[in-house]
Amino acid sequence: MAVGGCFCGKVRIQYSGQPLVSALCHCFDCRKLTGGLYTYNFIIKNVDLKITAGSPKEVAKTADSGNHIKNYFCSDCGTPLYGLTMKSDGTPDETTVLRAGILDDIGILNALPPKVEIYTGGRVSWVSPAEEAGQFTGMPPPP
Ligand SMILES: [Zn+2]
Ligand SMILES: [Zn+2]
Repeated sequence: MAVGGCFCGKVRIQYSGQPLVSALCHCFDCRKLTGGLYTYNFIIKNVDLKITAGSPKEVAKTADSGNHIKNYFCSDCGTPLYGLTMKSDGTPDETTVLRAGILDDIGILNALPPKVEIYTGGRVSWVSPAEEAGQFTGMPPPP
């Protein structure tokens, strides 16, 4: 069981099982979303994620890819928590994009280096590709 939460502590989350994919994303939206230069994400099944405290605020947007996405933040401190991709029928995809940095235990992050890096054209010039991570200029093919 992995546990985490936002900066102010009002929102707490946990997930069970193992991430399907771990991905660094260098896209423009991820910079704006976090104020960082990229995001580090664990793709997990929706059914494996539980919000154990607080109620994240939803922000909907159409991504550059054309996908309709919903991102969730702590409504008090603004920490980005996770995102969902919406299917054309308006229901969420079966997986959640969890912002891995919200996890409490750095051991989990050490144990799960990125499998892929996506939107690599947006990587700043002085950040090196992660060792052994597949490199993709857009979204990778589905796992
Ligand atoms: Zn918070
Ligand atoms: Zn991104």
